[in-house]
Amino acid sequence: MLVYADNASTTQLDKRVYAAMAPYYTDIYGNASSLHVMGRKALAAADEARGVIARCINATASDIYFTSGGTESDNWAITGVARALKDKGRHIITTAIEHPAVLNTCKDLESEGWDITYLTVDSDGLIDLAELERSVRDDTVLISIMWANNEIGSIMPIYQIGRIARERGIYFHTDAVQAAGCLAIDVERCNIDLLSLSGHKLYGPKGIGILYKRRGVKCLPYMKGGEQERGQRAGTLNTPAIVGMGKAMELACSSMQEDSSHVRSLRNYFITRVLAEIPDVVYNGPKDDELRLCGNANFTFNDIKGEALLARLDMAGICASSGSACSSGTTEPSHVLLAIGATEDAALSTLRFSWGKYNTIAEVDYTVDKLKEISSELRSATTLFKQFHGDDKYV
Ligand code: PLP
Repeated sequence: MLVYADNASTTQLDKRVYAAMAPYYTDIYGNASSLHVMGRKALAAADEARGVIARCINATASDIYFTSGGTESDNWAITGVARALKDKGRHIITTAIEHPAVLNTCKDLESEGWDITYLTVDSDGLIDLAELERSVRDDTVLISIMWANNEIGSIMPIYQIGRIARERGIYFHTDAVQAAGCLAIDVERCNIDLLSLSGHKLYGPKGIGILYKRRGVKCLPYMKGGEQERGQRAGTLNTPAIVGMGKAMELACSSMQEDSSHVRSLRNYFITRVLAEIPDVVYNGPKDDELRLCGNANFTFNDIKGEALLARLDMAGICASSGSACSSGTTEPSHVLLAIGATEDAALSTLRFSWGKYNTIAEVDYTVDKLKEISSELRSATTLFKQFHGDDKYV
């Protein structure tokens, strides 16, 4: 059996999305900037997708800009505002648990003399709104806080953050890459000025995303070149991917209730079985369904090396993750787990399972059965190892 429990890293393309995209590779392949019929058809399709995406997040279509994905949208939002407002102030507020697309962009700005406040989070991965209010300064130009965390699934109080930002006249950017498809997004209600989304987290194609940029927000273009996207984002439009992202958003919005309740019930069943049947496991992140992404389950398997468990699960046909996809392949403990108070050892014993709309109860059962078997084997090996080496480490 193959079980894909890594939907926070990426999702399977929905076949309906694939079908919508196909003609834009083979038949309607014109450059959307060309004036001839093929170009006009491509542009019309991109604009239709723009309209669908705008409706899904309660935005105006002309405020949606296509990018190459969540990473570019985050980079653009932060550097674009920083460059546009550098004479007004040089302070940005973000959190310690953002995706590297935000954190590394902020680090770059720090090296250019910007002051960045990284808000701490509690053991559930949630910020303290009072700390946010205390961190605001006269020279703060941007608050960039993710809607939901990719590793532990915590959902930030976006509505309240938006209100604080708006009252203080500070731009608010949110990375909603993980939230989309699971939570309703309304940029008006939440006073959001800039918002990042990515196609491949929503059963859409990879290499496409959007930046929502509210009309009038001062944010300089990030990609320089031609005049595509109203002179804001240069580069030939990736029409098939744009059409795919539009279709993926349409499907995600229309079946959000149904999909998220299916995913949530699988996830909750998984958690119940893991905690009941596998000893010495800690469930990380918010316990309250309202405060956690529907598919996310993050566990620390004490005394087991996460990478070893991950490799054994992989051999059993189960795809999970030892952190964010971007940091897998390194043995560095996750910055998110450290920020919620985990020790380095605990962080290195942690795996994330992210369930999606195509998963089934039989797959969850198979995963728990294998987890039980493999964790018990690895723990026995650790016990033997310690007996021989007298080491406090584990295999
Ligand atoms: N932001 C978050 C919260 C993510 O989880 C990811 C992907 O893992 C990204 C940004 C980057 O998105 P993309 O892969 O489209 O560049």
